[in-house]
Amino acid sequence: MKWRLGEVDEVSCSRCGQLNDHNDLDRILWCKECVDSVLSWAKARSWVVGVCIGMVLCFWIWIVVKPSNMLIGGWAGTVLAAIYVSARVTREVLYGAIRMKTSPESQVVSSDEESY
Ligand SMILES: [Zn+2]
Repeated sequence: MKWRLGEVDEVSCSRCGQLNDHNDLDRILWCKECVDSVLSWAKARSWVVGVCIGMVLCFWIWIVVKPSNMLIGGWAGTVLAAIYVSARVTREVLYGAIRMKTSPESQVVSSDEESY
């Protein structure tokens, strides 16, 4: 779908359907607001997943590894790194999954995001 409005090509975002300058849309025709909203949604979810993994890891270290007081600092660093890495990976995966779901081929605007 394309409209000629003066000098700019206006194209509707494939997610929210709002008209935008073609230059403001990305590869799969998402406007900046949709990209931002999905990124912040994925970020919020990814921290929850990261912290859960970190807690499981803490528990595992506490029960199985039983670190001495000297090594506690090192394990704390390991847990923090694990939280950070898993949050990052989760964010990429969630973002990629949503983007794939709403690719131009499908043209389906998902309603899952309303559940948060
Ligand atoms: Zn949009």
